[in-house]
Amino acid sequence: MVFRVFSMIILSPPTPPAAAQQPVAAVKLPHRAATDMLPVMEHFYTLQGEGFHQGKAAYFIRLGGCDVGCVWCDVKASWNAADHPRLSVEDVVAAAAQQPARIAVVTGGEPLMYDLAPLTAALRQAGFKTHLETSAAYPVSGTWDWICVSPKKFKAPLPEVLALAHELKVVVYHESDWKWAQSFVPALNTSTALLLQPEWSRRERITPFLVDLVKQHPQWRISLQTHKYLDIP
Ligand code: SF4
Repeated sequence: MVFRVFSMIILSPPTPPAAAQQPVAAVKLPHRAATDMLPVMEHFYTLQGEGFHQGKAAYFIRLGGCDVGCVWCDVKASWNAADHPRLSVEDVVAAAAQQPARIAVVTGGEPLMYDLAPLTAALRQAGFKTHLETSAAYPVSGTWDWICVSPKKFKAPLPEVLALAHELKVVVYHESDWKWAQSFVPALNTSTALLLQPEWSRRERITPFLVDLVKQHPQWRISLQTHKYLDIP
């Protein structure tokens, strides 16, 4: 795990979801060690199952390491970075480039525990759109075409990362989480897509609640974990 205070230079604000073709953040983190080797839990080709880009083919890169500690986490095996092999950026990007899609989703774990500049640079060099899935518990590094922030109660999201989000995806475990979800809106760009996603183990109870909510608050929409319904990774 990496616990450091980062300096960050944001080069441009987030672009609207409909036109999110511009990179939104580039960060120099001079005090972090070179990170052309990263702990990779798994990398694989599949469809993005949830969120704004649900249904699109994408290459997933899941980094090991997370100290957020969500009780309902469905990838607890990712938490200990030492459990996962350190792979070179070059090898991972080469594997991704074998597939026809040109979206790369970097997820975790909590990927922002690492300096992701070398990884995103290599992915973009290979023609990928870079998509990040983060709890926003750490400052942004790297250059991103899409940032999805899924805040967690166990480690508060950083306001400066919320301000860069193209997509806010709030996992709803209990009806009271609706108020919590709304609390992030003032920190977001006005163009940020707002999504509510039922926590998987509670989906039968929570989904009807979310349907009613979205009908009353149409600026929000529902995200479902379609990869679990489809039984794909
Ligand atoms: S932030 Fe993600 S990986 Fe980390 S504990 Fe929470 S759900 Fe699991």
